[in-house]
Amino acid sequence: MAEKEINILGAGISGLACGIFLRKNGHAVNIYEKKSNVGMRFNNDWQTLENWSDDMDVLKQIESYGLDISFEYEPINYLYFHFGKKNKLLHEKNAAYLVCRGKEKGCLDTDLLKQARNLGVNVYFNSKMVDNIHINATGPKKVSILAKGITFSTKSADCYHMALGEKIAKGYYSYLLIRNGHGTIATVFGPKYSKKANEFMENTINQFSDYIDIKELLDGKKFGGYGCFEIKENLHDKNGALLIGEAGGFQDYFWGFGMRYAIRTAYLAARSIMNNESYEELIKANITAQMKHSFRKRVIFESLGKLSYPILYYFKTTKHIFQDSANL
Ligand SMILES: Cc1cc2nc3c(=O)[nH]c(=O)nc-3n(C[C@H](O)[C@H](O)[C@H](O)COP(=O)(O)OP(=O)(O)OC[C@H]3O[C@@H](n4cnc5c(N)ncnc54)[C@H](O)[C@@H]3O)c2cc1C
Repeated sequence: MAEKEINILGAGISGLACGIFLRKNGHAVNIYEKKSNVGMRFNNDWQTLENWSDDMDVLKQIESYGLDISFEYEPINYLYFHFGKKNKLLHEKNAAYLVCRGKEKGCLDTDLLKQARNLGVNVYFNSKMVDNIHINATGPKKVSILAKGITFSTKSADCYHMALGEKIAKGYYSYLLIRNGHGTIATVFGPKYSKKANEFMENTINQFSDYIDIKELLDGKKFGGYGCFEIKENLHDKNGALLIGEAGGFQDYFWGFGMRYAIRTAYLAARSIMNNESYEELIKANITAQMKHSFRKRVIFESLGKLSYPILYYFKTTKHIFQDSANL
């Protein structure tokens, strides 16, 4: 197939991954990013690349698409799961992989930028709008979920915690992730509770106070963020560009995980260009059922009100927590 010149808007993980896949298949690729660097939406915070929504290991999956696994990651094999004062230890080998998000060396974002540039992808920063965009990878445009947190240096041991509760993270969960003296503590909640963000954060800090020295948070960096999930029929923007990653609403409705979707939809968009296949059909065949499943779980969770937390805490086994999107 003759080489095409492909223009991508947005150098998040979906835009960079898509650029890498297309470049590896012989296309000339330009990526236009409005910020001065990659990872500016993030804060060198820990995020988890989930490994339960597909039978294939996520690292093997993204490697099979054409990415190098040269970014820093750490397998998560256990998780302390909290509800109020109770907690239990859940084990699952390689349940997820911890990755750092931001503009520092070793982060997923900076590593993908390096991979893209090494292949000859042109990445232009401080660059907002150009004509003739083929791929729209500009991230969330709607607020479906909010997060507030702190990244901090710590002397505490490595640990992974997640907690449920109305007073700490209404509708979603709080988390504490520590690795190699670097910690992230955060609350994730629905947009209708935005006014309670500070209260949720304070209660989250109290929830995890047995595992950290709270004084260490004073020198930490506060952050806030949001995400979008939406099942769209039309996956082209108004100029006809393919919508990938969160720009296309691709994110898990139940837990709010979007990284794996970002890379998978980047691959499917690249494939549709490379093989002249319908992007919508590829998404329908590979992604939609999983998105719908996560939507149904969210509807059930929200309809249970306060009961949803104890039900999730008591009746979900390790397997369910980590693998409940698989085998739809
Ligand atoms: C606090 C927080 C914690 C999270 N934790 C997890 C987690 O643990 N696990 C998980 O899987 N997911 C998590 N997510 C979600 C995940 O980070 C995202 O789903 C994923 O990064 C989406 O990638 P993307 O490439 O679609 O979008 P983005 O990462 O948003 O990238 C979009 C890029 O486009 C640029 N851009 C926007 N508009 C324009 C424009 N007009 N012109 C040029 N450039 C533009 C932006 O500056 C940005 O660089 C979290 C999100 C947040 C906010």
